[in-house]
Order: sequence, then structure tokens, then C-alpha cells
Amino acid sequence: MARRESVFIYSEELEKYQYPPEHPFNTIRTKRVREIINSMGLLSGAGRKEVAPEPVERIVLKKFHSARYLRALKEASAGKFNTEALGMGIGTSDCPVFEGLYEGAVLAAGGTLVGAKMILSGEAEAVFNPSGGFHHAGPERASGFCYINDVALACMILAEGGKRVLYLDVDVHHGDGVAYAFYDRHDVMTISLHQNPRTLFPGTGFEDEIGSGEGKGYCINVPLPIGTYDEAYMKAFEVLVLPLIRAFKPDVFVFELGADALAGDPLAHMHLTNNVYAEIINHLLSFEKPILTTGGGGYNLDNTVRAWALAWSILCGADTDKEVSPTIGGVMLGNTEWQGGLRDRTLPVTNQQKDSVLPALNETLERLKTNLFPLHGL
Ligand SMILES: [Zn+2]
Repeated sequence: MARRESVFIYSEELEKYQYPPEHPFNTIRTKRVREIINSMGLLSGAGRKEVAPEPVERIVLKKFHSARYLRALKEASAGKFNTEALGMGIGTSDCPVFEGLYEGAVLAAGGTLVGAKMILSGEAEAVFNPSGGFHHAGPERASGFCYINDVALACMILAEGGKRVLYLDVDVHHGDGVAYAFYDRHDVMTISLHQNPRTLFPGTGFEDEIGSGEGKGYCINVPLPIGTYDEAYMKAFEVLVLPLIRAFKPDVFVFELGADALAGDPLAHMHLTNNVYAEIINHLLSFEKPILTTGGGGYNLDNTVRAWALAWSILCGADTDKEVSPTIGGVMLGNTEWQGGLRDRTLPVTNQQKDSVLPALNETLERLKTNLFPLHGL
């Protein structure tokens, strides 16, 4: 493959906007990812560059969000709170109002859209905006720490540019805002792998939600059991997701890389290591199509930062695949541990863990294959 043009989205301006200190969403993650990859020399050199985000224009925001919602969000951000805003989820404990909220949300989202435009123009083949990935926001709803749905907007802009868009969401929570935005469309396929919605916010994303009308079969939800570990996750990816991607033949990927499915995340109950993300990115790169990657959830800061630095290192062509990933025989770790490299050490999996994950997972995969594969000639 020819050298990739890889773009990392960042500016110090992003750091001005912080959720309240007690909120789990900590925007310092991006700054720390940037520090690590910069210290590794991965922000410069052939085929790599850093680009600053630009605020999304209102006319673009209105492709997905209602004027009423945008007005309420802007007013709340400026200190004019009203009950109408609260009715749209603005000012809840999940989506608090804080100083500069509107400007911060529109700037972070803008990073993703700068990336989408660079992909459309051919200026970039791999883009990473760790400040993006707000997949829960609805047209008229703030939800799950998300106000402006940058990923839905990016898919829209890429589809408007004539691209077949594959949206892949590996955040531990269902990518509801994006899935429902394209629920009846077949030019954007959405695939979300997430913890079983019976056990986690937002409570949607069941396997029978497969799209409607022209979009039937183009919305894919893979609910995963609590405790899902690397090998089980990759089975779901390889047995179900990869054949669907191949059948869809995307022109471009939008990849929401929330890192809250990693073991040790305080808001979820999965058992992954970042080796899964590395493997998935390598699978996506093998299609030789542009990839727009965003951040998302990820509430264990160290693990999230390391996962995203690893993601960038692969996206920008400095593959650390050969990096030693030591497994100390028999050492059981409750959490992942930084060994100095970016890859997590592999986590041991007990038979008990396998027994609690595999039967439910296999049943889900069989049902999804039965319902989805015939719709795609598989
Ligand atoms: Zn999440």
C-alpha cells in the first residue's frame, strides 16, 4: 500500500473546555495522547501531520440537530437556562451545563468534520480526532455526555459526497444516535458492538434492531455479554462483522473508538485489552479505504490514553505490532498494566469466564447471521 497521509486533530484551544471536575468525561485524555505520540516522534515526518479543529458551522449542525435544540444549547452555555433545555437533556447530571459548553462541543465536533472534509478531498487517508465520538447525541437531545453528534454529521457529509460509509462503533455503549440517524438508509451501514443493553446505558441496541425500509439489514447491533474478553470479541468481529463489511464494500470508514470496553473501565463491565483495537484497525486498514477515527468513551484515563496512542501509531504507519507484549505466566491482573510500551499485556481468561461469555455470545452471533447474512447475499 502506498504511504498513508495521516492527520491527527488537535489544538490547545480544546483544553479550554472542561466538564465539571466530578464528571467522568475528562477532556485531558486528548492532551495526554498528544503528549505521548509527540514524544514518540509520531506527529511529524513523512505522511503525518497535525491539524487544528474548526468549529462546525451552524448550517452544518442543522443537517442533524434541530434549530430549537441548537438555540437551547447555546443559550444554556451562555448561562440562560430554561426548562425547555432540560426537556432536551441539557442540564442533567450526565449532560451538565458548564462554561463554554457550546463552543467546546462545536469545536470538538468540528475536528471530526475537518477530518471528513480532508478525506473527501483526498488530502487524508487516516484521520484521528480523539476529541470526537459523541455518538449518543440525538437531533433534539443531549444524552450520555454527548451534545453534538460529530460522528453522525461526518457520516452524513461523507454520504453526501457520494461515499458508501461504514460506521463502526466499538465503544462499550450502543451508538444509538448514529444508528437511528441512518436506520432507514442503505448508503450508510452502522455496526455497533457493545455491552448487552439490558445491563448498560442507553438500553438500546438489541440484535433485532436491524434497520427498516431500504435500511433493513444495514443497521447491525452486536450485544455482548458482561466480561467479554479479547478472543471472544475478535470472534464476533471476524465471524460476523468482517463478512458484512466485505459485502457492503465501503468507500470509507468512520470508526468510533470509545475505549470504555477495556478491562478496568469504571463505567462498564467488559474485559478487553487494547490489542483488540490494534487488531481491528489492522483489519480496517487491509481494505485500503480512508478511515476517520474518533475517540468516545473511556473512563480509565491511563488505559484510554494508551489505547488511543496505540491506535494512532498504527493509523500513521508506525506499527508497533512487533512490540513485546509480555504475559507473565499465571499472574492474574485485575486491571491492565503499562509495561512501558503501548500494548496492554494479554489478560488471562479462566474457564469460568469462558463459560459465562461463550454460550450467550454464540447464540447472539448465530441469530445475527441468520437474520442479516441472507440480506447481503452471504
Ligand atoms: Zn461509551
